Amino acid sequence: MSATDAGGQNFDAADVSRQAEAAANTPGDQIVTDPVCGRKIDKRQAQYTANYLGQGQGWDTYYFDSEECKQLFESNPQQYVKSA
Ligand SMILES: [Zn+2]
Repeated sequence: MSATDAGGQNFDAADVSRQAEAAANTPGDQIVTDPVCGRKIDKRQAQYTANYLGQGQGWDTYYFDSEECKQLFESNPQQYVKSA
């Protein structure tokens, strides 16, 4: 391990601090991204969801912040699903 990159260390420390703050409020795995508009959504508050059959990984659930985003997704899911 190298401890010579002070700039990187400072950046990491700030990043870890922000993550710790977020984790204190909400578990990280409850936050997902609306694939249409890119907004962060809390799964527990998501009112609009859609299931889409991923590539060889079974059904994935996607979360949206609005019905408009959900409808956009459902009209052309392949445009929004990340291909691995
Ligand atoms: Zn959206």
